[in-house]
Amino acid sequence: HPVIELTGARKTYHTGDIEFEALRGIDCRIFPGEYVAIVGPSGSGKSTLMNILGCLDVLTEGSYILAGEDVSTMDENALASARNRRIGFVFQQFHLLASLTALGNVELPLMYAGVAPSERHERALHALERVGLADKSRNHPGQLSGGQQQRVAIARALVTEPAIVLADEPTGNLDSHSTEDVLGMLDDLHSEGSTIVLITHESDVARRASTVYNVTDGQFVGAGTEIAK
Ligand code: ADP
Ligand code: ADP
Repeated sequence: HPVIELTGARKTYHTGDIEFEALRGIDCRIFPGEYVAIVGPSGSGKSTLMNILGCLDVLTEGSYILAGEDVSTMDENALASARNRRIGFVFQQFHLLASLTALGNVELPLMYAGVAPSERHERALHALERVGLADKSRNHPGQLSGGQQQRVAIARALVTEPAIVLADEPTGNLDSHSTEDVLGMLDDLHSEGSTIVLITHESDVARRASTVYNVTDGQFVGAGTEIAK
């Protein structure tokens, strides 16, 4: 079964009397273990799509089935619950809390999920090990490089064992060395079986994925392109 199934997905924004259709009928199926990149220029609808896929916003028309659950008809509470259970987010601006250690940041989603302290600690350490940062667990974000901070954010995304990791321009704020570091990390997660959706305007970054969808003016152009490795 697909982990993500979008059918006839449309999103219309209203600004005063003006309507703008940001997503214009997108169909997409993403299967467990796939590494998908969604690539397109600024204004093409990528953030809108990311907000839909991440259960941060709902469609105007069409359906979205996430891990077998129809999230397109959910109210806000149910949507928030689906988001917390199913999605691990990685953002361009890391969004780490400066006052917490790396470990503390990775523990946060487990705290929100009501996991007991000792289990939280153990799972967060394991997630930091997966991203190769166990030795930095006591460092604060300000004591880490950009690439290392993004690895902490990836550990935080993974710690709840989400159905998908949704990464929005994860290398947008990084120099070329750290970009390679983070993309290598995503390659590793993919080979370990994680399902990854990467949103980017950079086609070089998109080529790291196994399937690439090109979005233009709120539509997918052409079928998903499988990247030969
Ligand atoms: P991208 O992430 O590819 O830059 P977006 O999804 O942010 O694209 O935006 C797609 C289009 O939708 C743009 O034309 C943008 O101006 C419009 N848009 C995005 N968000 C809103 C909003 N909240 N209200 C009205 N228009 C919006
Ligand atoms: P940008 O790509 O412009 O830097 P971000 O990556 O910061 O934007 O955020 C992408 C989207 O995710 C935005 O729509 C934002 O509102 C939302 N978002 C940002 N931070 C969080 C968060 N901590 N939890 C949930 N949603 C967030």
